[in-house]
Order: sequence, then structure tokens, then C-alpha cells
Amino acid sequence: MLFDAWSEAVPGFQPGLDLESLAHRERLALVDCNQFYVSCERLFRPELRRVPVVVLSNNDGCVIARSLEAREMGIEMGVPWFQVRARYGVHAPIAFSSNYTLYEALSERVMASLRSFGHGLEVYSIDEAFVQLPSEQPWEIQAEALSTRVERWTGIPVGVGIGSTKSLAKVASWLAKRRYKRPWYALQDMAELAEVPVDALWGIGPRHAIRLRERSVKSAADFVQLDPVWVRKQMTVQGLRLYLELQGIVCHPMQANGRRRRQIRHARSLARDESCLRRLKTWLAGFVAQAAVKLRGQDCIAGKLGVYLISNRFRQEGGYEQSPQVFINSRLEPASSYTPDLLKAAHRLLEQLYRPGQAYKKIGVLLQDLVPRQEASLNWLWPRPESERVLMTTVDAVNSSLGHQALFYACQLGAGRYSRQENRSPHYLTRWDELPVIAKR
Ligand SMILES: [Mg+2]
Repeated sequence: MLFDAWSEAVPGFQPGLDLESLAHRERLALVDCNQFYVSCERLFRPELRRVPVVVLSNNDGCVIARSLEAREMGIEMGVPWFQVRARYGVHAPIAFSSNYTLYEALSERVMASLRSFGHGLEVYSIDEAFVQLPSEQPWEIQAEALSTRVERWTGIPVGVGIGSTKSLAKVASWLAKRRYKRPWYALQDMAELAEVPVDALWGIGPRHAIRLRERSVKSAADFVQLDPVWVRKQMTVQGLRLYLELQGIVCHPMQANGRRRRQIRHARSLARDESCLRRLKTWLAGFVAQAAVKLRGQDCIAGKLGVYLISNRFRQEGGYEQSPQVFINSRLEPASSYTPDLLKAAHRLLEQLYRPGQAYKKIGVLLQDLVPRQEASLNWLWPRPESERVLMTTVDAVNSSLGHQALFYACQLGAGRYSRQENRSPHYLTRWDELPVIAKR
């Protein structure tokens, strides 16, 4: 049983290998931007540096990011904004609508600063990356160099946690932020695992945390004392990987060029219920166009396309349907990254899902079965005309230099805004007409 479990969990594990011999001697740094969305907003509004600030989800619904000051006021993650406003009145924090265009642009700059070190880099999320550290220099000096350079080059403060596996780097990052309140921390020895509560571990959700506490597993140190067979049985191979990683055995190797997305989703809640097919089509067209830009950005084509259309159950008269179909997909023949193909397919699916008179609150598109364009062009049955690729490359280039939607598709015209974003900051970094102005003459 154990052997099967090890070979399932540990890449490169072979019979006869001693597990200890796989313990990693190298070090990884987890670089994590501090309160990333809030830091992005503050970068252009330095007067808000010590003021409580929050960032809201789509349609200004809930709090999705908080400054330390807002956290200290007792504002929880995910709480609806109207409740915060009702409770704090004029003392409520400054709130921003989410501005993902800005956050993505700053994320790219953070990652570019990290890339400039020339070490292995894996972009893990919009505000986190793993960096492989060479062993010549002391870890502390490298951690300091990473955080100083990112902050100096981009203005975004980061925390750095260093350990021999990704899970240990996460632990170090937690210790730096929550326990020692310092910008970086390198894990020294395993005794420190006793400081880390089990629910702060990477990938331990509330359900597992409760079950572990029932077995009086309170800290990461208790967790690594468990029987691995029990861990595998109760917490799947993911739990076992965490268990081994906390003991220095790499189960999640670095993925050098970042991961290519396996699917691309673009879905949004609408500010108001919508029952007009024409407007739904227009919004969907905009989402498809944006998903297609991401698809071409990773040089892939999609083999399948799906559409979400979610109705507002609470407003339906006569009870809601037994199983309202909210998602359907279909194969793209041939696979494509050509926006007009994707638009046609998406609109066809939308027409199938749509029921007249129904009020819808969310709509979106999902691109699936992504394969690199190079591999697909070997498909001689359906050669794609070169003109399509040239056209798309040109449209993407124009839009990336002149700003989002300098060129768009006619079917995107005329629906107006789908979301409520009352406090969105300007697109400081991606639109000429919204560049920050330092001084006006
Ligand atoms: Mg962060």
C-alpha cells in the first residue's frame, strides 16, 4: 500500500529508492504580493496608504480584498458591501470596484521583475510566484534582494517565504506574515511546524481542518506525525502530497514556464436581471472576444466551446424548473482560435439555452480542449487559412497598443454596461486616455 501511495504522490519515485534520499536540498521562494488588489489601487492614490481600503467583487457585491487597516476594523472577507456601509456609515473604508485590467498589468510587471533574476520561475497566481533559488548565496540575502527589487521596480510590496518545497515555502510565508510580521522568512528547521495551525496549511479546507482537529491534530507538526496510510485514505493523494512536502519531499515540482491554462472561462454576473436575447448576445460576444485574446496569447486553439446562462431563481414565478439547464457545450469543427468562429458557435449555443421571458443574472463562455496551434496545424484535413491568423494577430496588436476595444466586432455593439462598477479606478497602465497625470499646466 505504502509503495503504491508513494509512487502515486511523488514524481520520479521508483522501487528501491529511499524516500529520505529524495528530500530536497535546494530552496524555493514563494513571493506573494501583500494585499495585492489594495496595493494596486494605493499605488496611484498614495494618500490612501494608511487609510482603510477594500476592493469589491463584480457589481460591487462583496469585499474581496482588504487593507490591514480594514482587517483591523473587523471587516471579514466576502461580506456584502451594503452591510459594511450600513454598519460603519461615514467611517466605512474607501471602496474600489475591482479593476482586473489594472491588476493584471501590475502582475505582469511584478513577474517581469522576478524574471530579471534569471532563476527558475513559476507564476502561480495573479499575485504569487515560486522562484528557484541558487545555492551560492545565503537565503536571507536572496530573499531581501527579491522583495527589494519588486517593490522598487513596481511599487508593490511583497512577502517572501523560503523552504525546500512549495508547501514549506508557503509555511514560511505564513510565518513571516502572521507570526513574525516581517517581509521575508526562511524556514530553519522542522520544529517550526509546531507554530503553524493545521488550517493555515496549503490546501487544507475547513472540512479537513475539522476532521483533523477531531483527531487532535492542531498544528502542521501534529499533521506530519499522522500515519500516511490514514492520510491517503481520508484526504486523497492531495493530502498525502502535502504530508510529504512538509517533510521536504517534492511532490509539486516547479513548472518552469508557468502552466498553460487548460481552459479559459469568462463569465460575469449582470447588474440587473436581463431577459432580452439581443443584449445577452452582445455581452456574450464581448466575453468571447476577451477569452479568444487569452487563447491566442498562449498560442492555442480550442476544441470545444461552452456557454453559461444562469437565471435568477428567486424571481421566477410558479417555482423554478426542476433542472434548469445552465451550461451546454459543443465541439468546434475544426478547432479554432478565430474569433468569428467562436462567436458563431457561442451565439448558437446561447439561442439553445435561452427561454423567452426568463430573467438571467449571469452569462459566460468557456473554451475547452485547448491544444497548441503548432500541433493542430498538422491537421491536413482542415488546414486553417493563413489569412485568419494574420487578421487575428493584427487585431490583437492594434488593441494591445491602442487600448482594449479599439477594434471590436459589430455584434458587440450597443448593449451598454452589464455590470455596476461605481468606484472603478482608471485603467492607468493600459489606456492612453486614462494615464495618470502628475501635474496639469
Ligand atoms: Mg497575496
